[in-house]
Amino acid sequence: MEPNFDIIKECEKAKRILVTGHIKPDGDCIGSTVAMTMYLRKKLPKADVRLLLEQPSPAFMYLSGIDVIESGFAGWKDGTDVCIVIDTSADRSGNAEKFFKEAKKTINIDHHISNADGCGMLNFIDPTASSASELVYQMIDKEDMDDEMAKFIYLGITHDTGVFRYPNTAPSTFKAAADLITYDFDFSDLVEKTFYEKSFEQKITAAGIVKQAKRYFDGRVIFGSISYKDFCEGKMTSNSFDGTIEELRVIRGCECAIFMYPINEKTNKVSMRSLGSVDVSKITAIFGGGGHVRAAGMVKDIPQEELTERILDAIAEQTGWER
Ligand code: 5GP
Ligand code: MN
Repeated sequence: MEPNFDIIKECEKAKRILVTGHIKPDGDCIGSTVAMTMYLRKKLPKADVRLLLEQPSPAFMYLSGIDVIESGFAGWKDGTDVCIVIDTSADRSGNAEKFFKEAKKTINIDHHISNADGCGMLNFIDPTASSASELVYQMIDKEDMDDEMAKFIYLGITHDTGVFRYPNTAPSTFKAAADLITYDFDFSDLVEKTFYEKSFEQKITAAGIVKQAKRYFDGRVIFGSISYKDFCEGKMTSNSFDGTIEELRVIRGCECAIFMYPINEKTNKVSMRSLGSVDVSKITAIFGGGGHVRAAGMVKDIPQEELTERILDAIAEQTGWER
């Protein structure tokens, strides 16, 4: 899908432009927002362009250019002219949501089926796109592309396609990637360091969760979780679970992987991945979450045992599988 507006034309009169993405930014969120921020700064040198995102996980911090992210940005006293939210709807943009609400113009760029209508005054939403980064790639004039922008767009595309493995990978994705690797950055090292490499502690945590995971529906569903007690005793953070859902997803026979961890005593975060026979975006939507058919998530204040039962019931209802 072609972009339906020119982002530079829409921003050329603005003095203060805020770019943002979702809470707990992943590779695609970081890649798409950093590249967009760099593009706007290049084309609109008189505008004050800022990128407000939560602090990225340590795996991304070695990337040059990542410092355009200002996690503590507190807004302008004269207000926001344009707010651009990418890879999410504004309701998951954390501290940036208040700036989005007060901005004179709002723009939403996303590829989530759960945000099909968009939340901006202007929306470029394509749920068939591999990644928000591929959408940003389409919005950038080819003559303005440079090594740093190319690197961040490549980061986003590789992360959201699982390095070109998931079926959201399209011919357009490979065409974009083929062009992007002509720029000067180490694309192999980038994928190794940000996607595959995990800390020893992360691998051990994932192994412990796989060991205790329960299988349902003849092994078609694998459910891993960690209790609040173990979470506290292990001094864990959300970063401890980087890659855990992936370890569950690749188990033979598994059609739907689920991982649940506590955010606090009452609230749990759930990640779901599927091979397509379960539409996990519809399951998480029941609980107020969202995402894609094959990758979705939610945060819910329901105790773990009850939440587990309700998710399994929802899968049974959607698929007709017997519990
Ligand atoms: P993850 O499981 O990696 O957190 O998220 C998988 C996908 O679902 C991502 O595309 C993410 O943006 C989306 N997602 C995760 N949690 C939520 C949520 O609470 N609400 C919505 N709308 N989307 C979510
Ligand atoms: Mn994305």
